[in-house]
Amino acid sequence: MDAGRREFLMRTAQGAAVAACGGLLWAHLLRQEAAASVLALRPPGALAEADFAAACIKCGQCVHACPYDTLRLARAQDGAPIGTPFFTPRTVPCYMCTDFPCVPACPTGALDPKFANIADARMGLAVIDEESCLSWQGLRCEVCYRVCPVKDSAITIQTHPRQLSKHAMFVPIVHSQACTGCGMCEEACPTDEAAIRVLNPKLVQGRMGEHYRLGWKSETPSSAAVPAESPAAAPAPSAAEPAAPAKAPGMDVLNEELEL
Ligand code: SF4
Ligand code: SF4
Ligand code: SF4
Repeated sequence: MDAGRREFLMRTAQGAAVAACGGLLWAHLLRQEAAASVLALRPPGALAEADFAAACIKCGQCVHACPYDTLRLARAQDGAPIGTPFFTPRTVPCYMCTDFPCVPACPTGALDPKFANIADARMGLAVIDEESCLSWQGLRCEVCYRVCPVKDSAITIQTHPRQLSKHAMFVPIVHSQACTGCGMCEEACPTDEAAIRVLNPKLVQGRMGEHYRLGWKSETPSSAAVPAESPAAAPAPSAAEPAAPAKAPGMDVLNEELEL
């Protein structure tokens, strides 16, 4: 084999090796991005993560528009897809500006231009670690409740029986249907590591399934909704025969009388 041909083959092999390494590296980066996107908390009004990733051009306009420096563009070590806007509640939460200037600043619609009410934001979901929460351990704290901008709907204080004494505990409970994920609770929690944290709901929420029926939550049919039986079809009870109590439609297995 002459020297020119050997040189050509060597360069071809080197090129193929570089391309293969590049492909592997690219695939690795894509996997890392996909994993990081589950952890990232996005600005209010962000589209669903796949649509957001497709629409965000990483321009940083939302970051510049935020008056509190809540938002940052992710760097490699931030655990979010590089260049995309995210926030870390324990450092700086979203203060839920009523005019949310970050949203209209977005030039591509990655932050939904139809977004109209900051209380509708679902940036994440606050989750309480009962084992490190002061209130759940029997002390009085409730800081998270007091700082929550949508307290009494996103977070409530409820009494809970205590083993040590007859005095009840007052514990915070988060309600997913109203929590915006702003993270003001996480920022304010006085424990060394926050006992309440905002996470992507996908990481913490389950789904019960359509086939379960919570009978105690279903509406009792009103008299207007139940068709009235005609007097001819339902004879009036006689004076000697007391009227049977009205029975709600549906099956209540636990309360059925057993025929032995
Ligand atoms: S709503 Fe306000 S505080 Fe929250 S990210 Fe947007 S500009 Fe920043
Ligand atoms: S602020 Fe922290 S410690 Fe206090 S009640 Fe809330 S979660 Fe518990
Ligand atoms: S993240 Fe915390 S402070 Fe914000 S709405 Fe939810 S419970 Fe309230």
